[in-house]
Amino acid sequence: MSSDKKINDPSADNEVVKVKKISPPQLVRGMHDILPAEWPWWNFVMSEVTDLALVYGFQRLETPALEKTSLFTRAIGAATDVVEKEMYSFVDQSGDHLSLRPEYTAGLARAYIEHGLHTWPQPVKIFSLGPLWRHERPQAGRYRQFWQLDFEILGEASATADCQLILAAVALFESLHLPITVQINSVGCSVCRPAYKQALQDYYRTKRSVLCEDCKRRLTKNPLRLLDCKIEEDRELAKQAPQLVDYLCEPCNAHFVKLLEYLDEVELVYQLNPYLVRGLDYYTRTVFEVWGADEGKSALAAGGRYDNLIAELGGQPTPAIGFAGGLERIVAELKTRQVGIPLPSSPDIFLACLGDTARKKAIKLFEDLRRRGIKTAESFTKEGLKSQLEIANRLQVKFTLVIGQKELSDGTIIVRDMENGIQEIVDFNKVVEEVQKRLVAREADTLA
Ligand code: AMP
Repeated sequence: MSSDKKINDPSADNEVVKVKKISPPQLVRGMHDILPAEWPWWNFVMSEVTDLALVYGFQRLETPALEKTSLFTRAIGAATDVVEKEMYSFVDQSGDHLSLRPEYTAGLARAYIEHGLHTWPQPVKIFSLGPLWRHERPQAGRYRQFWQLDFEILGEASATADCQLILAAVALFESLHLPITVQINSVGCSVCRPAYKQALQDYYRTKRSVLCEDCKRRLTKNPLRLLDCKIEEDRELAKQAPQLVDYLCEPCNAHFVKLLEYLDEVELVYQLNPYLVRGLDYYTRTVFEVWGADEGKSALAAGGRYDNLIAELGGQPTPAIGFAGGLERIVAELKTRQVGIPLPSSPDIFLACLGDTARKKAIKLFEDLRRRGIKTAESFTKEGLKSQLEIANRLQVKFTLVIGQKELSDGTIIVRDMENGIQEIVDFNKVVEEVQKRLVAREADTLA
């Protein structure tokens, strides 16, 4: 909204002129900025993710934010909430139908096929870290642009891959000092799932009149999702519903049993959760979620096996499993649990100057200190010494260097020890070495 306002403009000889009041720009609903104060948390998570990837042998692969819309409709399923309601899709200037990626797996599967990753030694382990977009209803922990970390193991059918991926997910939360529970289920395969879906529909049809509107739709379109409706009455109904584990075919059952054996062997504590189904169509067999303090109201991470996806997209048959974690939710959890995170290292030196000529020398000195790896702060745009020293105090630097008029003409610089306030005059040309010596001595004192 903007409104016109009449004001007196002195430059226009007191003539009354019209200026437009401009309303400032605002964030798109459901999106958020990540301001500098947030980055210690984000950096902590990101660096733990990259460290963990290295330990477990995952290589980074990033796909573009934009893919053809048809990739997601084919991969995720046309009847899913994500494809039906949540994608940011548009037709570009060339007439191509494109969508901002609502999840990572489909794009990674495309890249696996397109770059012939099936010719690499299998399994191929990849990880990604970046933003995704879903036009969901914004609420706590749910954004329209959010970041995910994503780990995938492609080209391995055995439960060993499921086990290792779940262990990697658990290890990540361990390294983030976050207590979690792991929820596991099997959603079967195209052989056993149809009979289960039928049993589920038969059960729910008799209760249709009491279902919520979403569940009424799910009954025909996506019956598995009936089980993870968040509405209390529907959750009660789910408790009496047939369970998928009772319908698993022999190979799916054997796979599930094997996975649980592996997890028991490493003494991982998990909960079997018969209501756990995932929102996307491509999942087969193992599915799992990592829950934090809110016990699953909004999972910290989630994933599962997708053995048919790559073949369905036109690639070689390639069994695969992956999981994704939401960075916003993980950062919020770190705050809820008051986890101590590494803070950015503070500077050792503050460089103060008085007057323009001194400022020029200080700018050059800053570069010399930086090249020696000495962490230096400055506030060259401030004029007064007092305000510069206030900043130095606030930053808790070890030494402040001051160049004023007198030092300029003498070719010297003041080195002020911030611990005891003692000041020394040092030859300007030797100051870098002098500072380095003092920092080493201070470090030795602290360690002693
Ligand atoms: P999904 O891709 O839906 O399996 O979600 C995997 C993880 O991404 C979830 O466990 C959340 O941590 C996170 N996530 C999913 N959707 C959102 C969202 N709209 N806003 C924030 N985080 C999300």
